[in-house]
Amino acid sequence: MGQTDVSYVSRPVWWGYKLMAKKKSKRENVWLECSQCKERNYRTNVSVAEGTPKLSLKKYCKNDRKHTAHKIRRK
Ligand SMILES: [Zn+2]
Repeated sequence: MGQTDVSYVSRPVWWGYKLMAKKKSKRENVWLECSQCKERNYRTNVSVAEGTPKLSLKKYCKNDRKHTAHKIRRK
């Protein structure tokens, strides 16, 4: 009495997801570089399996204090 059945707990929730993500798509860490001041303000990762990522993104630059186009720079 009072015992908890833990036999159904086999793996953490993220287990299968992690394996799937690895198999499915190759992701690459990139920088988002401001086109105005050339400052690298953001770090993100893009899927290179889906083809060429977007060339530029509108992001807030704290140096320019406005939204500017940020280009993807590989490491
Ligand atoms: Zn900037």
